[in-house]
Amino acid sequence: MTVVRDVTLRQHGNREELERYLGYRGIRVVGEDIPGNALFYEVDIPCSQLTEDNGCKVHDSPEKPLLCLKYPDAPNDIDACGYSFERQTPLERLA
Ligand code: SF4
Repeated sequence: MTVVRDVTLRQHGNREELERYLGYRGIRVVGEDIPGNALFYEVDIPCSQLTEDNGCKVHDSPEKPLLCLKYPDAPNDIDACGYSFERQTPLERLA
């Protein structure tokens, strides 16, 4: 997930406070693009369109979200979902 960096940091005061707030909700800040004014979040919620073998149920259909179509740079670069997910127990998540 991508959010507007300057607005978000202004709301939370600083990145440490933001990460504490998000961490209580299972959301991690995994990167930032300062020139692009963006922060990147990671959430352990698999997409409902992901198949058992990591395919995309809506690939090559008008139902595929624009962000997925654009990932990584062009839609024809990948045949299936470009994201990957790892199963974790709640205790592993806290580590
Ligand atoms: S490409 Fe997008 S819609 Fe398809 S499984 Fe991945 S995240 Fe979900």
